[in-house]
Amino acid sequence: MRSTVFWPDRPAEAPQNPAISIMAGLMAIQISQDMATGPLVYLETFGCQMNELDSELVTGHLAALGYRFTQSRDEADVILFNTCSVREQAENKVLSRVGRLKQEKAAGREVVVGLLGCLAEREGDALLASRPEVDLLCGPGELDRLPMLLDNILKCESVAIRERAALQGSRSRRSTTLSAAEDGLETLDLSRAFDPEGGAAGGRTAYVRITRGCNKFCTYCVVPNTRGAEVHRPPDAIVEECKRLADQGVVEVTLLGQTVNHYVYVHGAAVTVDGRESPQVGPGLAAFRREDRGGNGRRVTTFAGLLHRIHEEVPTIERLRFVTSYPRDFGDDILQVMRDSARICPYLHVPAQSGSDRILKLMNRGYTVGEYREFVDRVQAMLPDAGIAGDFIVGFPTETDQDFEQTCDLVRSVPFKNNFVFKYSPRPGTVAIDKFTDDVPEAVKRERINRLLAIQSEVSQAVHEREIGRVHRVFVEKLGQSARKSHGGVELGWESPQEQVSGRTSGDLITVFDCPPDMAARDLIGRIIDVRVDSASPRLLIGHMEPS
Ligand code: SF4
Repeated sequence: MRSTVFWPDRPAEAPQNPAISIMAGLMAIQISQDMATGPLVYLETFGCQMNELDSELVTGHLAALGYRFTQSRDEADVILFNTCSVREQAENKVLSRVGRLKQEKAAGREVVVGLLGCLAEREGDALLASRPEVDLLCGPGELDRLPMLLDNILKCESVAIRERAALQGSRSRRSTTLSAAEDGLETLDLSRAFDPEGGAAGGRTAYVRITRGCNKFCTYCVVPNTRGAEVHRPPDAIVEECKRLADQGVVEVTLLGQTVNHYVYVHGAAVTVDGRESPQVGPGLAAFRREDRGGNGRRVTTFAGLLHRIHEEVPTIERLRFVTSYPRDFGDDILQVMRDSARICPYLHVPAQSGSDRILKLMNRGYTVGEYREFVDRVQAMLPDAGIAGDFIVGFPTETDQDFEQTCDLVRSVPFKNNFVFKYSPRPGTVAIDKFTDDVPEAVKRERINRLLAIQSEVSQAVHEREIGRVHRVFVEKLGQSARKSHGGVELGWESPQEQVSGRTSGDLITVFDCPPDMAARDLIGRIIDVRVDSASPRLLIGHMEPS
């Protein structure tokens, strides 16, 4: 019986983190005393940084409840895929993995298969009906309830269809206002059990969510439906989370939001719980664009104010970054705080998506190419060394050669350090799939993506070349390729190999350099090192470590 194998009943033990106890109490979940015997979970993440952070929170939450984690799908008792619905490719990968598990289950393997994230939210019960091998679905707005779902399934004698579980829709746009005040996801964020051992860059970098959901409704995007309306976390909670991470050794924090510059918190407007402010639904765009940001006389924390607070109140965070920015509504106040705060990285990821006003309108992006260029001009005037990255979609319905040429012009004229370029594919749950015919032939999309990438490659080379000779502070993230020193093209086999490490400048330029022979490359991971740039390629800078 599953319950005896996986989930022995044990007396509850008080967790270390009080927030976990609040959360566990809320959900009446029994906490396992023996952390070594809980079910083995394999969790694979697809998609964006939001999903990465969600997976980290889910991992911490389940681990606190006694679940163990494995890197092996074959030995897992529970297999979870945190899914992405934005790109067709990511979705196909998940479904093919699920297909393989169907065969294994048919052959007698007992394993619980769960889909989390946007695909689960978008497809809902229909997916359970069409994929009997899937035992549970849990949308991104319900992740705080995942342990309850798992617990129910693991305690079933058999995982029959009637016992399969699905949660979705609590972040439906209708219910968001009501649920924001009683926010289990906020508890999940607050109860975060950051694991310095398992974290990236030696546990020295971490994401912090500031906003969930999105109100922009770009016609190609499913996010406003899967993640719901914009909900902003209270600034005190965000600053507190940054402090806790800093106490655990984190030196780089990346603030996350679908459109971070739309962060705004009106004090005194949201419900308070035990004197603490709660997450709050964002004001509509019209209110946000008023001078008072929708505050109506109340005190407001803007995104610029939030950045300033974190910078001032958590000085041990040596790098403060944020993604993703929306090209409109990015005020000079934010640029000023970035300019005046030494530890805020001059890096902006600001998707343009197209260089054609006609296509931007069909995408419902809410700005023109002229407005995008005006924004870039302001960035360059105030932060001349800022790294600017973007996203583009090619082959959007009705995109003509002329539209595409305008996109090429935009890429040529903005010093993008890099661009993520995607071919349009109609995604279920979006406005575009119903409204437009996917009429740009696949071969044309392919040709356009290749051309745009080639142009971007030239732009990246020029951006990188201007860094040659400069010294950058590089945050070392990982080991690079081992490199043998060669002299005049002749590799000297007797010479000891030098290990390369890879990191990023504050402007997010990827930089590699050799670890000095008297140091261990691993010891550099998570440190910020002065590196002089010797040469550049379209993808990265190559340099050497400066003597300290
Ligand atoms: S701004 Fe547009 S593309 Fe970005 S998450 Fe919102 S709807 Fe999607």
